[in-house]
Amino acid sequence: MHEMSLCQELARLIAERAAADGFSRVRRVVLDIGALSHVMPEAMVFGFDVATRGGPAEGALLEIRRPPGTAWCTDCAASRAIAARGDACPVCGGHKLLVTGGDDLRLKELEVV
Ligand SMILES: [Zn+2]
Repeated sequence: MHEMSLCQELARLIAERAAADGFSRVRRVVLDIGALSHVMPEAMVFGFDVATRGGPAEGALLEIRRPPGTAWCTDCAASRAIAARGDACPVCGGHKLLVTGGDDLRLKELEVV
């Protein structure tokens, strides 16, 4: 379950930032989990609780947003929204798509006390 290691990485990142910026508690964490990423939001919620125990983000509210997948269709020469990797272009039906967004996990916001 790679979500657990992602959460440990996230907890480490938050602790580092707490030390660098001089805050001790985090109230809210906003994560973007792209619709095309291979990360399960439910597993992140669970892993986050475990990984942040004893650190500055313990008990923080984890807010997960799901930005949609986007890809560049080389046939249309335009950006298209896609629901899954390997989907055809919703406009021309072509398969020459390059994923351009919604495929990763990002720490977007930290609300600190
Ligand atoms: Zn197209």
